[in-house]
Parts: sequence; structure tokens; C-alpha cells
Amino acid sequence: MRTRLLSTLAVFAVACAITPAHPLSAQQSADKLKPEDTEVWKPVPPVVTPGDKCDAPPSDAIILFDGKNQDEWVSAQDHAPAQWIVHNGIFTVSKSSGNIETKRHFKNYQLHLEFRIPADITGSGQARGNSGVFLASTGPGDDGYELQVLDNYKNETYVNGMVGSLYKQAIPLANAARKPGEWETYDVIWTAPEFSSDGSLKSPAYATVFFNGVLVENHFELKGQTLYIGKPFYKAYDRAAIKLQAHGDKSEPISFRNIWVREL
Ligand code: MG
Repeated sequence: MRTRLLSTLAVFAVACAITPAHPLSAQQSADKLKPEDTEVWKPVPPVVTPGDKCDAPPSDAIILFDGKNQDEWVSAQDHAPAQWIVHNGIFTVSKSSGNIETKRHFKNYQLHLEFRIPADITGSGQARGNSGVFLASTGPGDDGYELQVLDNYKNETYVNGMVGSLYKQAIPLANAARKPGEWETYDVIWTAPEFSSDGSLKSPAYATVFFNGVLVENHFELKGQTLYIGKPFYKAYDRAAIKLQAHGDKSEPISFRNIWVREL
């Protein structure tokens, strides 16, 4: 009987503990608040003048390619000056000179770039307009983090390797591909992974991607580098270049233009 009484008292005590003494007190205190109590005035976001078009670089952008030269780019292999072909305000993949990457290294950023797969593209599957934007190129021996470039206008492949995918990790939410020969846009928000001093992962990488203005990756949490073979894993790095892929297919090469980045 005594045990039963004690357990009843215990239940009553817990119930008292979780039941507010005055259920209306939150509402009553809210009634005393003024609208300005929840207004935030500082810090003031910096003024950024938008470009004339959404595709044009805003005032605080770092221009990575404006159609004139490859001064911001180097060979990903040996960091020699980039050797892709600059012509008519664009640059085109040179298969023989390999991948190129930015001289500058970045952490978190917003990226805009435009690419064009040639109208006379040939091939199929992964061998049709394959390139890639490596959102963090962490070294020649690493796979890095690839946002796929591929012609998937009417070209079937594994969906976690199609255009708009974070290669073999994130299937795009839509296929917004334009016809080969038309310019296409990527707008990316990259949140870099964070690592502890011992190299262990503190917080993962996230990517949000708009493809031709359509959301295809929504704050996707990456599981590590985007590997061609095997399961992804993280390897500690601090800042990294952005790399463009010369995939080396037999089909005609891809061109890029209007590339800019805003550090976040
Ligand atoms: Mg690729």
C-alpha cells in the first residue's frame, strides 16, 4: 500500500512539474511586448548593387572569367597557366591540357557560371557533353566535390550522375536541361565542410544548386568527396580552388562564360 501511495505521489509531482502554474502567463507577457521589441536593426547587411541582369556579376563579385583571358585560372595538375581556348568571349575545354582550376582558394561562396554543350554533340550516357564543376578541388590526388555537367536533354544515364547531380550522391530535383547548343546556367551556394584540428569532421558540406533558374539541389548534405568508385568520405582541407573538368570524351568540347563568385 505504501509503495502504491508513493508512486501516486511521484506521478502527481511530475505532473505538477510539467504543468505551468499560470497557463496564460506567456500570452499575458506577450501582450506587454511592443512590436519594436522583436525588431533587429544591426548588423546592417552591406549594400550590393545587383547586375543589370540576374546573370551579371554584382558589385562585390570576384570575376573568375569575363571572356577576355584565363588570368584567374591555372592547370589543376601542375598550376601552370591555364591553356583552354579563349575565343569570342568564352573559353572552351582543351582536352590535351586537362582540368583547370582557380588560382584563388575559397571556403563558403555563391557561384555563377554558364556553360554550353555544342549543338553537334555526339556520344551517349556519360560520354555526351561530360564536364564538371568541382566546388572544392582539394588536390590532384583527391576526387573533390563535383557538380556534374552533362547533356541530359534527351540522354539517359544513372540519375545520380546526370546534369545537376552532386556526382553519385544527390539526384537533381528536376531535369532543367536546355537543348545542346544553348547556354545554361549554374548558380550554387557552397557551404564548405569544417574539420577539427585532428582532421575529424566537425560539420559536413552543403550545396544548393539552381540549374537554369530551377532548384535542383536544396541544401544537400554531402557525405564526403564525390567518388567515381566507392563510398564517399571526407578528407580535411581548409580552403580550395574551384575546378572545371576536361573529361576527355571523343565528343566536341564544352564552353564556359561569365563565371563569378561571391565569398560568404
Ligand atoms: Mg563530369
